[in-house]
Amino acid sequence: MEPISPLEQALHTARALVLADLVAGEVAEADVVSLVEESVVQRRWWVEQWPEGVEYVAGLVAQDVQDALLDNYGRWPLCPVCRSGDPHALEIEPELGPDPHWVCHEAGVKVAAVGALGSAGTS
Ligand SMILES: [Zn+2]
Repeated sequence: MEPISPLEQALHTARALVLADLVAGEVAEADVVSLVEESVVQRRWWVEQWPEGVEYVAGLVAQDVQDALLDNYGRWPLCPVCRSGDPHALEIEPELGPDPHWVCHEAGVKVAAVGALGSAGTS
């Protein structure tokens, strides 16, 4: 067997992390999962052009899916930290960097790493 390349590994991880967050938000419908697949295909192309970007893939896939959901579904993921005020979505930070996290800009807090939303804010 060929060893799995760092690119494929990063894409696989990104897909798994974003799916975990979608499951946590109970929006992992079939058409939403296909948005993740679409993003992974595009980001594979992107990293092939710019291999140094491989570390950024998870944050980018999360942002792609967030943008696609905004058009088709609504804000995602909703902030689990702020209990008052208008519902708002979390944002990825850094937008282009390794180790992406979901943050709430209203409260100025890191909510969870990408892939760990399920264990955030539900206690
Ligand atoms: Zn918030």
